[in-house]
Amino acid sequence: MSKWLVFLAIVVVVGTCVEAQEPAIISRAGWKANRSVGDGKRHKIEFITIHHTATKQRTNRPIETKLRNLQAFSQREDKLASGKTKPAWFDVPYHYYIAVDGKIAEGREIEYAGDTNTDYDPTGHALIVLEGSFDTEQPTVAQIESLKAMVNWLAKKYKVGGEKIKGHRDYAETGCPGSNLEKLLPELRKIVG
Ligand SMILES: [Zn+2]
Repeated sequence: MSKWLVFLAIVVVVGTCVEAQEPAIISRAGWKANRSVGDGKRHKIEFITIHHTATKQRTNRPIETKLRNLQAFSQREDKLASGKTKPAWFDVPYHYYIAVDGKIAEGREIEYAGDTNTDYDPTGHALIVLEGSFDTEQPTVAQIESLKAMVNWLAKKYKVGGEKIKGHRDYAETGCPGSNLEKLLPELRKIVG
């Protein structure tokens, strides 16, 4: 083999190791998203932050319906359980949603910063939400596999180090993402290295 072929082989091998494979993601068109409303704030991803929906896992509802419902709630002004009123948001507050069956859907387009009802600035954060209320429920095996694949892919794509992969409650006064999900964070950081 010539030196050039050896060089080329090394480039290909290194390239494949650096780029993690993109998991199967249902696009916004795939769940028939409405358009975003108003102006989004553009940002650059530096962090990956994990959330739970804080709602009960539903195995009998398709992910497309869950996303449409979440978008409808997100884009209108509404009263929260806390008594606070949330404003109408640009779009779904999170960038990726992982349903109880492990299916992944695109939320807000990742080039736009997310939204929150809590006191932190989500600019620069890639926001992943898992369906469930993880102080009482458990993430399913399928959800955990999808979460690992997503974190691995996003971390490599945006060069996010393990120390910047955290849960919502590392930034704000909240129970999110629930203790049963939070305890998986060290393992997620290890995948990234
Ligand atoms: Zn959260």
